[in-house]
Amino acid sequence: MAVFRAVRRKPVVRSGRDTTTVNAYVTGLFGTKRIVLWDTLLARLDEDEVLVVMGHEMGHYVLNHVAQGLMLSSIGTIFALYLIHRVANALIRRFGARFGFYRLADIASVPLILMLAEVTMLLGAPVVNGFSRHLEHEADRFALEITRTNRAAGLSFVKLQEDNLSVPYPGWLSKLWRSSHPPIGERIEFANTYRPWTHGEPLVYGSYFRDP
Ligand SMILES: [Zn+2]
Repeated sequence: MAVFRAVRRKPVVRSGRDTTTVNAYVTGLFGTKRIVLWDTLLARLDEDEVLVVMGHEMGHYVLNHVAQGLMLSSIGTIFALYLIHRVANALIRRFGARFGFYRLADIASVPLILMLAEVTMLLGAPVVNGFSRHLEHEADRFALEITRTNRAAGLSFVKLQEDNLSVPYPGWLSKLWRSSHPPIGERIEFANTYRPWTHGEPLVYGSYFRDP
């Protein structure tokens, strides 16, 4: 069991008892919003790298990614339920005799509803993952703009990859259906190349923090 320990309002999960993987996330709504770091991450990353991770999580927080995710899943769930309703009724009209029931309200329709829910989630996964990857990419951009430490960002991703054993460049099928984050190889490339401040170009999220 992971135990929470409050460190100046940055909760740390003592995950070292359970796992050697590293992680950090932002969660909660209103007064329960918080950035959570795993103690494995604090042990593994140096100060600049922890700052990049904090910058990434702060990006999620400042750019309201939790609320955006909730909004998408709420709209998606309503749309999915409507789709299931339509398809299930159409199937019952056509195959009611074989199913042995003629109304969706019949308790016997539960397996049909569950099956359609699975199919809907499978079809919706690329959209959900695509949206998630977009938010993660923007959080990476925020972290780079606020810290301007490209090398530390790249190194933190390398350590993340080493410890979590993620595939740097997964195939497109895996990326579409399984990847909630951009592939770690793409994140490292972005960390190595994204530095608009060196060319005097405007920052995308510069309005959220004061220039150093
Ligand atoms: Zn993130």
